[in-house]
Amino acid sequence: MKGKRSLQEEVMMSSPKFRPRFLLFTLAMLAACTHAPHSSATVADQTAPPSAALAAPPAPRPSVTIIDHDIFDQQRLAMTRQYCQLHYGTASERLETPKMIVVHYTASPTLQKALDFFTPDRNSRDDIRSGGEVNVSAQFLIDKDGTIYRLAPEDRVCRHTIGFNQVALGIENVAEDKDALTDAQLEADAALIADLAARHPSIRYLIGHYEYQDRSLPHFALRTELDPSYHPTVKIDPGERFMTRLRALLKERYGLTFER
Ligand SMILES: [Zn+2]
Repeated sequence: MKGKRSLQEEVMMSSPKFRPRFLLFTLAMLAACTHAPHSSATVADQTAPPSAALAAPPAPRPSVTIIDHDIFDQQRLAMTRQYCQLHYGTASERLETPKMIVVHYTASPTLQKALDFFTPDRNSRDDIRSGGEVNVSAQFLIDKDGTIYRLAPEDRVCRHTIGFNQVALGIENVAEDKDALTDAQLEADAALIADLAARHPSIRYLIGHYEYQDRSLPHFALRTELDPSYHPTVKIDPGERFMTRLRALLKERYGLTFER
């Protein structure tokens, strides 16, 4: 996405099928401007083929309020650099170019319990202990009422999706399980993702955490893991129903479609 153009429009503009029609339309507009200024609309209307991209009203810009709550201190930054060196081969905590968004739920019932889990610097989970000391987290945490908290700057690596943390922004939703996710969270996720896509044109993929190990999906080409002994864990969050509703809302409200 560049400027106000949607991902869908971007695809249409670059597709071979669209280009000649767009060129024809442009030539018609130029001709109309040069030779018949008073009837340009008529000429353009007659010459330009009907096109959804041209006819559709611009997608609304998302209105998003984000509350900054940075949980990183110097020790956690150092641990993140160690993690990145071990798994991605670069001793930097910088997420230079976000290419995908991964949606999660916390498996905890309240915002406070989620913060209590994410805030300590050091990981407490046995199943991922071999992967490094730094605790898990995500750049964003969305409460049940849709309030959005930013736990780390958008250019910082957070440990949330094995193999993809160096290219993926993470969104955690406060919920014990898939049935506890709220409509307010669905709305907030969609608005935040539309906002992120507008500000980071490099974002191309959107997945639920449960999809991250699916080799048949295009995002899998981005996977990097230099430690062969570090095995991915099986994930079920945030569930297929939430992702289906989220993708539908993104398309309907913001005209956005992402690859998986
Ligand atoms: Zn997850």
